[in-house]
Amino acid sequence: MIGAFAYNALPGRVVFAEGALSKLPWELDALGLKRAAILTTPQQVAQGDSVRAIIGTRAAAGYSGARMHVPIEVVDEAEKAIAGADCLLAIGGGSTTGLAKALALRTNLPIVAIPTTYAGSEMTPIWGLTQGGLKTTGRDLRVLPRLVIYDPDLLSTLSANVVATSGMNAIAHCIEALYSETANPVTSLMAEEGVRAIAEALPLAASDHGNAVARAQVLYGAWLGGTVLGAVGMALHHKLCHTLGGSFDLPHAEVHTIVIPHATAFNAPAAPEAIRRVAGALGVVSAKQAAGALFDLIVASGGPTKLSDIGMKEADLDRAADLATRNPYYNPQPFDREAIRRLLDDAYHGRRPGGEKPSSIIETARRQTMG
Ligand code: NAD
Repeated sequence: MIGAFAYNALPGRVVFAEGALSKLPWELDALGLKRAAILTTPQQVAQGDSVRAIIGTRAAAGYSGARMHVPIEVVDEAEKAIAGADCLLAIGGGSTTGLAKALALRTNLPIVAIPTTYAGSEMTPIWGLTQGGLKTTGRDLRVLPRLVIYDPDLLSTLSANVVATSGMNAIAHCIEALYSETANPVTSLMAEEGVRAIAEALPLAASDHGNAVARAQVLYGAWLGGTVLGAVGMALHHKLCHTLGGSFDLPHAEVHTIVIPHATAFNAPAAPEAIRRVAGALGVVSAKQAAGALFDLIVASGGPTKLSDIGMKEADLDRAADLATRNPYYNPQPFDREAIRRLLDDAYHGRRPGGEKPSSIIETARRQTMG
C-alpha cells in the first residue's frame, strides 16, 4: 500500500560522463559565469591546475587550503582569496565542497561542484562550519550547487581505502533514506538503486584502479546517495557518525563504513520493508541478512570494520553513547543509552551482525578437519 508522502524536488544541473570535465567551459558559458574561483585541498592542487588550464580566462582566483570539517579560519582566509569571482568552483571531496558552501552562505555566489570522492555533498543543501571545536550544520538552498560535473576519470587517483570508505559513506545515505521519516516513493527508488549500483561495483573499484566501468558505477550510486541525502532526513546512523567524527576526531568516511552494518541491524526489526529493499539490492534473500551482507561488502572492498582500528578509545565509548543520546531525534527503532552503548561496542570490536559469515564457518570447519 502506498502511504502518504511529500516530495520536494531540488534544482540544479547534473552532467555525468567519462571526460565530462572537458565540457566545463561550455557549461560555465551556458550559465553566464565568467570569473571562477577554483577551490581545492592542498593535496589536490594539481587537479585544480588542470581545471584552470581547461577553463582558461574564466579562472579568476583560487584557494587551495580546504580542510576537513570547514574550520572558520579557513573560510575567512578563502573569502579574501576569492575576491572578484562570480562563482565558486570546487574540485574535490566533501571538504572542498563544504568550503564552497560556507563561502556561498557569506557571498551568495553560485557553486559549481566537481566531485572527486563518493561523499555526495555536491547534491545537498546541507552546510557545516567548525568554530571553537564545535561543528554547526544547517540547510540552505543557497549552498546547493547550481551545476555538478561528474567525471569518473577524476576518481582514478583515489586510494583503495578512500574508494572503499567513501563508497560505503554513499551507501549509508541510501540506507537511511529508505527508512527516513520523510521517505517518499521517488527517493526510495533512487536509494535502492544506489545501494545496488555501489554494492555490485565497490570491491572491484577498490581493488582495480584501472577499472573505469566499476568506478563509474560507484560514482553513479554516489550521485543517487547524495541526492537522497539532500532530499530526506537521516536518522540514528548519521547522528552517531556526526558525534563520533566531531567529538572524537575520527575520519568521516571510515566512521560511516564501520557503523552502517550495525545501524542497519539495529533498525531492521522496526523498518522491515526498507531493510528488505536493502537486502534485495545487496543480493541477499532476507532482511535478516542485510546487515551481515553490508559487513561482508566492507571486507570484500578492503575497508575497516572496527572503531578500534581508526583511533577510537574503548574508554570513550560511554561518553559517545551519552553524547549520541543527549537530544532526541527520529529513528525507526526507539533507542536508549544502553542500546546505543551496545551498538557502539559491536562497532568497536568489529563484530559481524548476524554472527560469523556462513562461508567462514564452513572455511573454519574445513581447516579444522584438514588439521
Ligand atoms: P575529503 O574531501 O576530506 O577528502 C579526503 C582526502 O582525499 C583529501 O585529502 C582530499 O584532497 C583527497 N582526495 C579527494 N579526492 C581525491 C582524488 N580523486 N584523488 C586523490 N585524492 C583525493 O573527504 P570526503 O569523504 O569526500 O568528505 C568528507 C567531508 O565531507 C566531511 O567533513 C563530511 O562532513 C562532509 N560531507 C558533507 C556532506 C553534506 O551534505 N554537507 C555530505 C557528505 C560529506
